[in-house]
Amino acid sequence: MGLAVTRDPRFDILFEPVRIGPLVAKNRFYQVPHCNGMGYARPRAHAAMRGVKAEGGWAVVSTEEVEIHPSSDISPYIEGRLWDDRDIPALALMTEAIHKYGALAAIELVHAGMSASNLYSREASIAPSHIANPASYAPAQARSMTKADIRSYRRWHRAAALRARRAGFNIVYVYAGHSLSLAMHFLQSRHNHRSDEYGGSLVNRARLLRELIEDTKEAVGADCAVAVRFAVDELRGTDGISADSEGREVIAMLAELPDLWDVNVSDWSNDSKTSRFAAEGYQEEFVRFVKQLTTKPVVGVGRFTSPDAMVSQIRRGVLDMIGAARPSIADPFLPKKIENGDIDDIRECIGCNVCVTGDHTMTPIRCTQNPTMGEEWRKGWHPEVIPPRTGEDSFLVIGAGPSGLECARLLGRRGYTVHLAEAGEQPGGRVTRESRLPGLAAWARVRDYRLNQLNKMQNVEILRGSRVTADEVVEFGATRVVIATGSHWRRDGIGRANCRPIRGFDTKRTVFTPDDLMDGAPVVGPVAVFDDDHYYLGAVLAEKLRLTGLRVTLVTPADRVSAWTVNTLEQHTIQKRLLELGVEVFVNRNIVEFSRSEILLECTYTGRQTAIQAAAVVTATSRLPNDEVALSLDAMPEAVDAARIVSIASIGDCHAPSTIAAAVYAGYRYAREFDRPPGDEVAFQRELTDIRAP
Ligand code: ADP
Ligand code: SF4
Repeated sequence: MGLAVTRDPRFDILFEPVRIGPLVAKNRFYQVPHCNGMGYARPRAHAAMRGVKAEGGWAVVSTEEVEIHPSSDISPYIEGRLWDDRDIPALALMTEAIHKYGALAAIELVHAGMSASNLYSREASIAPSHIANPASYAPAQARSMTKADIRSYRRWHRAAALRARRAGFNIVYVYAGHSLSLAMHFLQSRHNHRSDEYGGSLVNRARLLRELIEDTKEAVGADCAVAVRFAVDELRGTDGISADSEGREVIAMLAELPDLWDVNVSDWSNDSKTSRFAAEGYQEEFVRFVKQLTTKPVVGVGRFTSPDAMVSQIRRGVLDMIGAARPSIADPFLPKKIENGDIDDIRECIGCNVCVTGDHTMTPIRCTQNPTMGEEWRKGWHPEVIPPRTGEDSFLVIGAGPSGLECARLLGRRGYTVHLAEAGEQPGGRVTRESRLPGLAAWARVRDYRLNQLNKMQNVEILRGSRVTADEVVEFGATRVVIATGSHWRRDGIGRANCRPIRGFDTKRTVFTPDDLMDGAPVVGPVAVFDDDHYYLGAVLAEKLRLTGLRVTLVTPADRVSAWTVNTLEQHTIQKRLLELGVEVFVNRNIVEFSRSEILLECTYTGRQTAIQAAAVVTATSRLPNDEVALSLDAMPEAVDAARIVSIASIGDCHAPSTIAAAVYAGYRYAREFDRPPGDEVAFQRELTDIRAP
């Protein structure tokens, strides 16, 4: 962080304390619950990650969903777990880490009802009525709860609240959000078909939620605050809860019962919309009514990274506390930076949802903007504190994409002398190019944060318009060379579905790569986009071409458009957008040949072939590293020795093409670890299973 220590008085309001039931939050920054792929399985990593948030100034730091009972087993996903007393010590690690910095610890108690697979516990799932989970194709159903089941559930929830207090939590949640909890399933008329006092009218459907709030207050309310997380709108019109009918009525009915309302939209993909589909503050239109109906503090989210936007939410009476999951992941020190007047140093979330992929892949959370996220314990990385240099090395970093920029930033912060050579006039590499595509403008924040930091450093020089050759590297005089020259898209069609070139792809002038399109190549229609990459780019390019009025077809060997984006919660929205734009979509189709203005498609199941008309093909299949400099240096060991170069390393896409997040991580990792003694040991701490008696 910079040297400024005075905060702009217009942000003072963000640092006012807020009373929450029996407690006081020290400011208005509230880290709402978020998943992280650590949960019960990696408690030390989890505790350290939350501790860093508290250190960064958040007044409240929450867990993710915490399962309260084996019949709410969300496996294979890794969330929090509080099934019995033996789960208390792991969660206490986290509350200790949070309390150390004067923050309040919140726990989101969850019974997931029909959303729980119970694959580990092998219990039957429970629901208001007999129902198959609409979010899963699993051949299992949830059974309708009897009155005795409802009484048991209330007892489990109460017991979990008491355990939560013993684990040191200050705020205990009753969760009715994201269509992921029993309390919400009871509220939803489409899921609640009961004819007893828990079904039918909204008063009846809300009975369970009311009872849970009352039970929790009665159990722990003397010293803990009781929060309700409630989805006021499901964005499905009259078929669901909506802010202008039942969402509003529930708040009106229970207005003063909890100590805090944490309100949002449902489901998770609507709540955590990416920047491609929603702007900062996008939930305001749904949640702004809540404060008019309650005197209790109201928390809401909206990917807030701008302090002015936050102040505006408070001043206009929309929210009392600024809720954040993703902005707190991208910059755990966001509150501290605003408090210290270091607005320039905020690492703004780009809204890409790479953080969500950790939960979906059951691996520790990662973040495009913050490479230390998830590494706080296992590698001891800290988002702001970096060890100083350990020697007199000087660095030549070649390529100013996300990887080279991050590497230079961190080496610079450590105090090394760094030259960052970039072939083009504009730094940023792929993020600069991709940020010009429809919906991806926020990608540029990856570049802008780093450039801004680099511009403040006397010891780092950026050499623009400098395409470096191997000969120039040995003449340059740096002791260490880092190659971050990126990658380029293949033209031959080789990717996942094709291990050999596609006939006609490498010979025709009408076959374009994503690089060609980003360089402004003129494409004529009708055009087919072949997406064997399965992340966002194929669909974004189809959208771009369609927006210019061309006839566009998207062909993919997967069973859906942008298949991997199920992990970023975007898949449904992406496919919907293409269909609405009039892009014709062929799924489960490979391309066999491109000839005479025709593309031969092959069904991935039957092998049956059909032809479609196309004057051009855009092929997004896989990439090749730009490894010319690395290979040339490898071939001239004597010259390298004579130049007294101690090490040459390739990082990011020129090492192995991957995500922007992986490139940033590689840049950080190199700068952080290049001076560690080499060895074959595992590069991080692990949480090994304790095999002593249970
Ligand atoms: P990464 O994602 O690994 O950071 P990018 O492709 O985004 O990779 O960025 C690589 C950058 O390296 C681009 O800006 C490109 O212009 C630059 N570059 C490639 N080759 C050279 C070279 N020989 N000298 C200097 N810069 C280069
Ligand atoms: Fe934001 Fe992307 Fe980081 Fe998630 S991964 S916090 S969306 S920058």
